[in-house]
Amino acid sequence: MRIESGIEHGLAVLQRLPEAPSDLPAAAFGRLRPALVRTPRLANAERFGRPELLVADGRGYRPVIVRAHRTTDAGTSVPPLLISSVDRPFAVVEQPDRHRRRQQADLWQLAHFVVMLQQAGLAGDPVGGVIGRGTWSDAVPPAPPGTDPAGAPTDDAEVIVWHDLTPLLDEYRERFAFRQRVAAAAVAGGELVHPSRVSECRRCPWWSVCSEELQAAQDISLLAAGIDVPVLRAAGLHTVPDVIAAPPALLTSLQLTSIPAGELRVRAIAHRDGLPLVPKGNPAAPRADIELDIDMESYLDEGAYLWGTLLGTGRADASPDELISIAGGYRGFATFDADLAAGEGPNFARFWAFLDRARAACRARGLSFAAYCWSRQAEERWLFSTPRRYPEVPGMPTIEQVKQFTDSSQWIDLYAEVKSRFVVPGSLRLKAIAPVAGFSWRDPEPGGENSMAWYRAAVGKDAAGTGAPDLPKRQRVLDYNEDDVRATAAVRAWMSGPARELPTAAELDRAAAG
Ligand code: SF4
Repeated sequence: MRIESGIEHGLAVLQRLPEAPSDLPAAAFGRLRPALVRTPRLANAERFGRPELLVADGRGYRPVIVRAHRTTDAGTSVPPLLISSVDRPFAVVEQPDRHRRRQQADLWQLAHFVVMLQQAGLAGDPVGGVIGRGTWSDAVPPAPPGTDPAGAPTDDAEVIVWHDLTPLLDEYRERFAFRQRVAAAAVAGGELVHPSRVSECRRCPWWSVCSEELQAAQDISLLAAGIDVPVLRAAGLHTVPDVIAAPPALLTSLQLTSIPAGELRVRAIAHRDGLPLVPKGNPAAPRADIELDIDMESYLDEGAYLWGTLLGTGRADASPDELISIAGGYRGFATFDADLAAGEGPNFARFWAFLDRARAACRARGLSFAAYCWSRQAEERWLFSTPRRYPEVPGMPTIEQVKQFTDSSQWIDLYAEVKSRFVVPGSLRLKAIAPVAGFSWRDPEPGGENSMAWYRAAVGKDAAGTGAPDLPKRQRVLDYNEDDVRATAAVRAWMSGPARELPTAAELDRAAAG
C-alpha cells in the first residue's frame, strides 16, 4: 500500500514539473545539455539509478528525488532552508519559517546520484533535492483568508528541498567500496560480515535468513537496539549467554541509550527462557469505573477517517449502561467520504461529543473515567490537528479543551504503561503484546498498511481506479479497528490479572545469580 501510494504521489509530482526531455541516458543529455531532464537513465560499470529529475545549475546537473514523506517542519534551519517551487526548479530561495528534515536514506540516495554524475563528468554543485509530501497546515495554523502570499507553498509536495551533500560524499564512497568488498568476498565463497539486528531488519527481505543465524549464535543484537550493540560488543558481550554470565558491575557501568543497563541481564534471561514480558513490580495499569479504549485510523498525512471506541468498565459488578446509562461496546466513528477533508471534521466532532458525554456522565455520578490508547503520539497528532484545521465545524472542541483532556490523568497511554511496568525482550507493538494476553485479531492480515489499502478500496480509490466504493472493505476496516480497541482492553485486563502471577524481574535476577 505504501509503495502503491508512493508511486501515485511520484506520478502526481512529475505531472507538475515543467516540460523536459525524459528517459535520456547520460551520453544523450550530456550532448544535448537540456536545462532539465526527467527520469534520466544513469548507469556505469558499477552503479545504476534513476533520479526523478536533473536540474542544470550552470556547472552541471543536480539530482532531485521524490519521496512520500515529510521534508520540512515548522521552525527554522541553520543554515537557512533553501527551496525551489516544483514548477520553477531553477529559482532557489530561502524559506525562513520552515525547518529542513534530513532523512538519511534520502541523502545517501542523492550522494549516489551525485557520484554517478561526477563519474560521467556531468555533475553540478554537490547538492541534491527532495520533493516530499505533507501539508504545512497541521504544523502551522493557516493564515487568515486573504493574508497568504499568492502562490506560497503549503505542502512538501510543492517544493524541492535542497541539501548540501559535501560532508557526505567521502563516507558514501567508503561505504560503497566496503559493500563491493563484501560482495566480492561472497562471490569468492568467503564472508566478510555477519548479520547484526538493526531497525531496517523489520522490512528486509533477508530477515528470515539473518534471524536464523542470529538465533543460532544467540547474538547480542537480539537484545538491544542497533545503536547500543557496538557498546556491548566493545565490553566483550557478544552473545545472550555472555550477558547472563557478566559481572553485575560491568552491566550497570554500560552507557546504553535504548534500554536501562540494569535491565540487560533480565532481558537476556527472558530471551533465553522465551518470556515475552517480565513484570518489574506491580504490572497493573490504572483502572477506572468507566473505561474507553480509543484507536484512530488515518490515511497517510491526509487525515483521520476513523475514531474507534470501546466502552467498558473496570468493575465486575456493573455494566456501562447500569453505571452511566450508555450502552457498552464498540462504536466506530467513521467517514468514508471520498473527499476526506469534507467528512473528517464532522466525524471528529461526533467522536468528541461521545467522549464528552461519557466523561460528563461519570462526573455527574462521581465515577472515575479513563480513556486508553496504544502510543499516544498517533492519536494526539489528529486530536490536535483536526480542531486546528476545522474550527468552524459545529461541536468541534477547542485546542484548549483537547489539551485539558490529554494533560489529565484520564488519558492513559497503555503502550507507555507496558513499557514502564515490564521488561520486554522483544517487540512492543500491540500485535506482539496482545497475543500474550490471549487476544487474536479476526482478520488474517491485520496491520496498519493493510488497513490503508482497505480504506482506499472502501472510498473507491483502489488501484483498479473504478471509483466504486467497496462496501465489504468498509466493514473490514471497522472490524480491524474494533479488534484493535478490544486488544488494548484485553492487555489491560491481563495486566490486572494473570500478569500478577508471572516471575518478576528481581526474582529472575536472583535466580540467575544464585
Ligand atoms: S535482515 Fe540481515 S541483511 Fe537485512 S538489514 Fe537485517 S542484518 Fe542486514
